[in-house]
Amino acid sequence: MSSNYKSIDARFMEELKQKNDIVDVISGYASLDKKGNTHWACCPFHHERTPSFAVNQGEQFYHCFGCGVSGDVVKFVKEIENTDFIGAVRILASRAKMEVPENNFDSEKAQEDKKKRDAMAKIMLDSARFYLSNLYSGDSRAEAHLQYISNRKLSPSTVKKFGLGASLDFFGLPDYLAGKGYFRQDLIDSGVLTEGKNGRLVDSQGGRLIFPIINALDEVVAFGGRLLEKADFAKYKNTKETMLFNKSKTLYNINLLKKLKRKQAIQNVIIVEGYMDTISLYQAGFENVVASMGTALTKEQARLVKRYSENALISYDGDFAGQKNNLRGLEILKDEGLNVRVVPMPEGLDPDDVVKQGKDAYQKCLDSAMPLVDYKIHSLERKYDLKRRKKSERSCPTLWA
Ligand SMILES: [Zn+2]
Repeated sequence: MSSNYKSIDARFMEELKQKNDIVDVISGYASLDKKGNTHWACCPFHHERTPSFAVNQGEQFYHCFGCGVSGDVVKFVKEIENTDFIGAVRILASRAKMEVPENNFDSEKAQEDKKKRDAMAKIMLDSARFYLSNLYSGDSRAEAHLQYISNRKLSPSTVKKFGLGASLDFFGLPDYLAGKGYFRQDLIDSGVLTEGKNGRLVDSQGGRLIFPIINALDEVVAFGGRLLEKADFAKYKNTKETMLFNKSKTLYNINLLKKLKRKQAIQNVIIVEGYMDTISLYQAGFENVVASMGTALTKEQARLVKRYSENALISYDGDFAGQKNNLRGLEILKDEGLNVRVVPMPEGLDPDDVVKQGKDAYQKCLDSAMPLVDYKIHSLERKYDLKRRKKSERSCPTLWA
């Protein structure tokens, strides 16, 4: 997809920029400090401690004296949201409540892609609403889902905040979506439905507890589904990769992290492995948490984290350092200029287990976070030490004091 300023109505672009003052827009991403005619911030595009990122309101232009990036408000949004020119225009238009003149965009292909993407986004949202309504429908088939939520001690407001839902069977969702007039192919391409035997469409998450995966633009892009009964296969299943969902560029809870950043500076971002760790920590007051959703961290995810903080706290299950993929993920974070520390967990426990013992228990673990090198050494020491300790003696504070 290629396009440029020429392909969009010049008057529209002018109005768009007028209604999106560069200082207003950038202050949603970085904390700006006004000195004279210039606003300064620590650069959101490179790692630094003293501000060299300058925004000139008069010229509606930004420039970083550290890494050299510069441009206008459209370029800024394009770079910071990892999108293309049209994507940036759309974000700014929606911010200013302006209608984008679609027929001014260049190729037919781009228009088709946009149509398809929009349809898929609507399918995801409709599906999320359907799952949500199932959860509290009073249907006896939702009891297992509610039981799981109650066992995990999630409050109704947490459930609502994360939009958890219930798939009750394989046919409820296809029936519901059939009444909405979507194209069959879009339903399949969105990943929510799968073509079953005899070509019948079935819910890809049939029967599972549903965790919507929401991007930084507040769009539902995929679902994580947890199996509720015992089985030999994996407990969690994500929506397949689609036009909307690229797992390696997504972090679970990035939507709420973005909202948090608008309220306050984020000292560090806690990175956990899964949905439940994220939700439990969030509920306990650790709102600065995201999950990599079970894959080794990627460069794109590292960059995403860096937009919110330069400090990453890795809070994985106890034994993670033994796995090569995990260690490579941490190296990737470092390569992107993040200051990485590892949060030690008591043997055999994950963050969800620890935070259930109380906020303080997890805070103690956070307080003893250490650089990776130290963590590796301590892991070895602990392994040796544990052979001679009783299980009841194991906890963060005593081991890591
Ligand atoms: Zn810079």
